[in-house]
Amino acid sequence: MKVIQMVDLQGQYQRIKSEVDTAIQEVIDSSAFIKGPQVKVFQDNLAGYLGARHVIGCANGTDALQIALMALGLQPGDEVITPDFTFIATVEVIALLGLKPVIVDIDPLTCNIDPEQVRKAITPKTRAIIPVHLYGQCAPMGELLRIAGEHSIPVIEDNAQALGGTYDDGMLRGRTGTLGTIGCTSFFPSKNLGCFGDGGALITNDDKLAETLTAIGNHGAKVKYYNDLIGVNSRLDTLQAAILNVKLKYLDEYALARQKAAKCYNEKLANIGEVTTPKVADYTDHVYHQYTLQISEGRDELKKYLAEKGIPSMIYYPVPMHEQKAYRTDGDFPVSEAMAKAVLSLPMHTELRLEEQEYICSAIKEFFN
Ligand SMILES: *Cc1c(COP(=O)(O)O)cnc(C)c1O
Repeated sequence: MKVIQMVDLQGQYQRIKSEVDTAIQEVIDSSAFIKGPQVKVFQDNLAGYLGARHVIGCANGTDALQIALMALGLQPGDEVITPDFTFIATVEVIALLGLKPVIVDIDPLTCNIDPEQVRKAITPKTRAIIPVHLYGQCAPMGELLRIAGEHSIPVIEDNAQALGGTYDDGMLRGRTGTLGTIGCTSFFPSKNLGCFGDGGALITNDDKLAETLTAIGNHGAKVKYYNDLIGVNSRLDTLQAAILNVKLKYLDEYALARQKAAKCYNEKLANIGEVTTPKVADYTDHVYHQYTLQISEGRDELKKYLAEKGIPSMIYYPVPMHEQKAYRTDGDFPVSEAMAKAVLSLPMHTELRLEEQEYICSAIKEFFN
């Protein structure tokens, strides 16, 4: 058996190598490395796929979050509510802009932000809510939008882990990233739609906001050398856009491959007392950016045991935001603290094979026997 990997980018590339290589060569031949035509084509294609009015490319997912917040015209000290259990980028950009991250606890079933905690955290200074669609499962957007609507607060979706997912609660339906005021996503290589370096995008249905987001990512200029806003330099490279244009065609197929692998894990790991397989809320599908177990006892020992057997696993995330040195916050976060000690993500990618999953699951069973 070949080496088991958390993510098999090489295998994924090999299947579409000639298409990708041609797309890359076209960009090199044209030398339009910045703002080449492939960028607009990709933005339009992704907007079409998502059913959104606008997609605006930028340099990475962290920039997308920063640009989204900059476009809301917030003042220093304004509060932004975000979950305790996420990748650091979400909290980082809030703090970087002189805003106050208001960190709230999560739901133990989905590991996504808990709407009840959001409701409690709202103050007259709350100016935005940033839910994160963690591991590939949409946060409870219907409930969050209802709470936000009561206070006229915009919702920015951190969709870096859930691109291609769909939310549907019977009233509200749509692709993740298109439900709130602005959606942010990342094309980091290991994400569900990954490029060959860094990349990101903003998603919105609001024409005016789209104009502002575009300008902010372009030094605050709508017309070159006329800088109306304070902006940043954040572009999606033409090469990355060309690669993404090829890979976007396969995104649904990739999601199905991940869902199939998750189903296989779920079945094989169903009857181990110490292991809880991922739960999917009834208002969303799951595109399994990560396949993450909750281990009630011996998580770290299990991780070591698997490593000895050549099975990689990862802890997303070992330290909740409120315990990070740079962002230390007082308060009660029992769920995210428990999750940081319990979660373990198994290899999950589009090339995962049945025999690899059988090997991984029998090793987990052996450990608990
Ligand atoms: C990957 C990720 C980001 C940041 O994306 P980059 O492209 O690496 O900047 C932000 N939020 C979440 C939840 C992520 O997983």
